[in-house]
Amino acid sequence: MGEFTLELNEDQKQVRDWLHGFAADVMRPAAAEWDEREETPWPIIQEAAKLGIYSLDFYAQQFFDPTGLGIPMAMEELFWGDAGIALSIVGTGLAAVGVLANGTEEQIGTWVPQMYGDANDVKVAAFCSSEPDAGSDVASMRTRAVYDEAKDEWVLNGTKTWATNGGIANVHVVVAVVDAELGSKGHASFIVPPNTPGLSQGQKFQKHGIRASHTAEVVLEDVRIPGHCLLGGKDKLDERLARAREKAKAGGERVKNAAMATFEASRPAVGAMAVGTARAAYEVALDYAKTRVQFGRPIIENQGVAFQLADMATQIDAARLLVWRASWMATAGKPFTAAEGSMSKLYASEVAKKVTAQAIQILGGNGYTREYPVERMHRDAAIYTIFEGTSEIQRMVISRALAK
Ligand SMILES: Cc1cc2nc3c(=O)[nH]c(=O)nc-3n(C[C@H](O)[C@H](O)[C@H](O)COP(=O)(O)OP(=O)(O)OC[C@H]3O[C@@H](n4cnc5c(N)ncnc54)[C@H](O)[C@@H]3O)c2cc1C
Repeated sequence: MGEFTLELNEDQKQVRDWLHGFAADVMRPAAAEWDEREETPWPIIQEAAKLGIYSLDFYAQQFFDPTGLGIPMAMEELFWGDAGIALSIVGTGLAAVGVLANGTEEQIGTWVPQMYGDANDVKVAAFCSSEPDAGSDVASMRTRAVYDEAKDEWVLNGTKTWATNGGIANVHVVVAVVDAELGSKGHASFIVPPNTPGLSQGQKFQKHGIRASHTAEVVLEDVRIPGHCLLGGKDKLDERLARAREKAKAGGERVKNAAMATFEASRPAVGAMAVGTARAAYEVALDYAKTRVQFGRPIIENQGVAFQLADMATQIDAARLLVWRASWMATAGKPFTAAEGSMSKLYASEVAKKVTAQAIQILGGNGYTREYPVERMHRDAAIYTIFEGTSEIQRMVISRALAK
C-alpha cells in the first residue's frame, strides 16, 4: 500500500492536467446552458466517453490507485469544471461502487460495463436507496424483495426517490428489504438489468442546483429479476442474515448493511467534489477582486475583501487535506475509527457552501447574476451538505465514534 504523500506523482499530475483541460475547455463553456436546460448533457458525456474520461477503465484506474488520491484528484478537477455536468459523468460511478463493494467478480464483470455502454452508445447507471419515507433513516426503507424459489427470481416492489439517473439508467442498483425484522441489517442490493418490465421513472425533480444532473423517482411494480441479480449471491446473503439474526438475539454488535458500505466508500469522494466547486468559486472571486476597481484601487486592497479570500483559500486547503487523508486511509485498508470519511465530507461540503456564498459577495451585484458563474456554483454547492448523508448525519456518525 502506498505511503501517505501530499504530492501527486508524475502520472497523477498528467491525469489531473488532462482532466483540467476537459473541465476548462468542454465543461465550463457548457455549464450555464445545461443548468438552464435542466437535462442530462448526453453530448458531453459522449465526448468524455470518446476521450476515455467516462469509462469503467478510467474509473477503475483511479479507484484502485494505490495512493488513494486518484478519485479525489479526478473529482476535484471535474467538479471544478461544473458540478451538474460532472455529476452526470460520475453518477454512474456511485452505482458501480455499489456493485464493486457488494458484488461477485462475475457480477462486476457482467454489469459494470453495461452501466457505461461504449463511446458510440453511452449509458448511465443509478443507485437507488432513498425512499420518500426513508432518507436519513435508511432503516425505515419499505421496498421489498421477495424470493420466488420455484423460478429462482426476486420480485421487487416499492418506490425509490432522489435517484441520480433514475429511470434513464441502463442498469439500476436497487437496495431493498429482504428481512423486515432485521431493520437495515435485513437489506440487500440488486441489479435491475436494462429494460426490465415493471421499473419506471416517476417524477423528475426540478432542482435548486446541479440541474444538469437528472434526479427522479423510480417506481418498482412486480419487477422480476433473475436470482443471479442479487449482489453477492444468495449463499452470502443467507449467511449474513443468519449472523444478523443471531446477533440481534444476543443484542451484539451492529452488522454493516450493503447501502452503508457504498456510502462510506464514497463520502471522501463527495468531499472532493465539494472542494472542486469551492476552488472554482474562489478562483473567480480572486480574479475579480484583483481587477475590480472601486475607490481608485482594486477591491482586494481592502483588508475586508483580502481576509475573506485568505479564509477561503485556507479552508479549501484544509478540506482537501481531510479528503486526501480519508481517501488514503480507505485505500490503505485503515478503518475510519474516528469517522474520518464523514469528517472529510462534513467539512468540505460546509466549506463549499460558505466559500461560494462569499464569492457572490465579493462579486457584488455581478455575483448575484447569471452573467457570472458563482451564483450557479453556490446553488450547486448546496447539494453537498445533503446527499450521501446530510451534515447532521455526518455529525451523528462522528460524535458516535467519539463517544465509543
Ligand atoms: C440531487 C440529489 C441527488 C440524490 N441522489 C441520490 C441517489 O443517487 N441515490 C439515493 O439513494 N439517494 C440520493 N439522494 C438522496 C439523499 O441521499 C437524501 O436526500 C439524503 O439522504 C437526505 O434524506 P431526506 O432528503 O429524506 O432528508 P431527511 O432524512 O428527511 O432529513 C431532513 C432534515 O432532517 C435532518 N435530520 C434527519 N434525521 C436527523 C437526526 N437524527 N438528527 C438530526 N437531524 C436529522 C437532516 O439532516 C435534514 O436536515 C439524492 C438527493 C438529492 C437531493
